[in-house]
Amino acid sequence: MDDHVVVLGAGMAGLLAARVLAERFARVTLVERDAPAQDAPAFRPGLPQSRHVHVLWSRGVRLIDELLPGVTGEVLARGGRLLESPGDLLWLSPADWFGKVPGAQILVAGRELIDWAVRRAVLADPRITFRGGCEATGLVADAAHRAVVGVRVRDRGHDRGSAGPLGGEVVRASLVVDATGRTSKAPAWLAEAGWARPDVTRYDSHLAYSSRYFRAPPHDGRAWEAMYVQGRPDLPRGAVLVPQDGGRWLVTLVGNGRHAPPTRAEEFLGYARTLRSPALYDALREVEPLTAPTGFRHTANEWRHYERLADPPHGFVVIGDATCRFNPVYGHGMTVAALAARALREALAPLEPGEVPAASRRIQRRISATAAVAWQIATSEDLRYPETEGPAPDRVTRVLQQYMTRVMVAANTDPAVSGRFFGVLSLTESPNALLTPAVMLRVLSKWRLPAAPMTPDYPLSR
Ligand SMILES: Cc1cc2nc3c(=O)[nH]c(=O)nc-3n(C[C@H](O)[C@H](O)[C@H](O)COP(=O)(O)OP(=O)(O)OC[C@H]3O[C@@H](n4cnc5c(N)ncnc54)[C@H](O)[C@@H]3O)c2cc1C
Repeated sequence: MDDHVVVLGAGMAGLLAARVLAERFARVTLVERDAPAQDAPAFRPGLPQSRHVHVLWSRGVRLIDELLPGVTGEVLARGGRLLESPGDLLWLSPADWFGKVPGAQILVAGRELIDWAVRRAVLADPRITFRGGCEATGLVADAAHRAVVGVRVRDRGHDRGSAGPLGGEVVRASLVVDATGRTSKAPAWLAEAGWARPDVTRYDSHLAYSSRYFRAPPHDGRAWEAMYVQGRPDLPRGAVLVPQDGGRWLVTLVGNGRHAPPTRAEEFLGYARTLRSPALYDALREVEPLTAPTGFRHTANEWRHYERLADPPHGFVVIGDATCRFNPVYGHGMTVAALAARALREALAPLEPGEVPAASRRIQRRISATAAVAWQIATSEDLRYPETEGPAPDRVTRVLQQYMTRVMVAANTDPAVSGRFFGVLSLTESPNALLTPAVMLRVLSKWRLPAAPMTPDYPLSR
């Protein structure tokens, strides 16, 4: 059993965790509720977010390529695009349009394509066994109630094999990694088995998504490849447009609370017209929609603090959205999943496989720590919106929010500030990069946000 570990969920976090675990354990079983098509990218119900814009920041691209060399190349060969942000991205920030300033690279591709390419590369490893169409239903504890020693699973459609006392098949393992995403049942599973549930911190800005595919028009010399019109608290409506494989555009409208975007086809374009700039509406009004809009509403930031459990079981760790998820509008989930996989790899490096179960608390702390910067960015930005529910910001956060308002103004035009700003946003540099005396001087010399949210003029060419 020392040689066998189980990963629950084959999303980005589970796939990368399986890849890392296979370096140290003879056998890794990857349990996934969906039975995804293996031959080509396709929608699957366990990844409903794949119908909405996904952007992978440069840090995530590098980390995934480190773990799975060639995967980014595969995504690019099949229609993904590596873009300069803001260079190729016409971006209206809360202050103004970004000018010609240095930024960061982003990988823009269908989430289904990314999912397929990463899964294919991970499953090429013979140490990893994929059990698709198989749902995890609970944890199995040892007799002394000290450790998780396995997991109960159910093949969808029928049960099979060695039924445990609570029904379902028992798969034994020295380590169980929960990567079942934001619908993870791990808190209830721990409670069922007699362990404490983790505390939860939650901030909900009630941001809603509505997304729709369009046929991309011919590239008629326009100066941009993608577009982002950001909302702000006085007009909390925004939109992102990105190119996708197959000559398509994917457009995601976002809005907070009563500004939630419509999911009715006949209202989609009308909403685009109410944004802070007409640029996105102008781009869309002549193009052909290919699908009806799809909505998504569960965008709260939620941190389940497994790293704080006083007496957690040995042999169990939680990774990815299952432990910490973010408002997706900042585009950090996949990069944090990759950072967590790297932390897992580093934590395992000095350990013999037999030592891993007892070290799971330390491993969990290292994994959870990788979420801290993305959490700070997402929650402090969300707290600018008055309807955001969650613990009130402390004084330091309020001062930092004011400072970040000026950073945004400066980043629009000042190359020295924009370089640092995108370094932090892409999770490449520490937020301290924005707090050096040189950067602070430049930032504090800038004006505040313009008083009116609307920015009707936009740069057609740059
Ligand atoms: C609308 C939206 C837009 C987003 N945009 C971005 C973006 O632009 N950039 C970015 O980096 N991130 C983005 N994210 C976040 C990103 O999708 C996730 O953070 C990332 O995929 C990591 O998720 P995960 O692997 O932890 O969970 P998931 O991707 O949710 O995967 C969980 C997996 O577990 C499986 N599963 C669930 N329950 C069980 C069970 N009981 N047994 C077995 N299997 C199970 C599911 O089928 C699924 O395959 C977005 C998220 C949303 C919701």
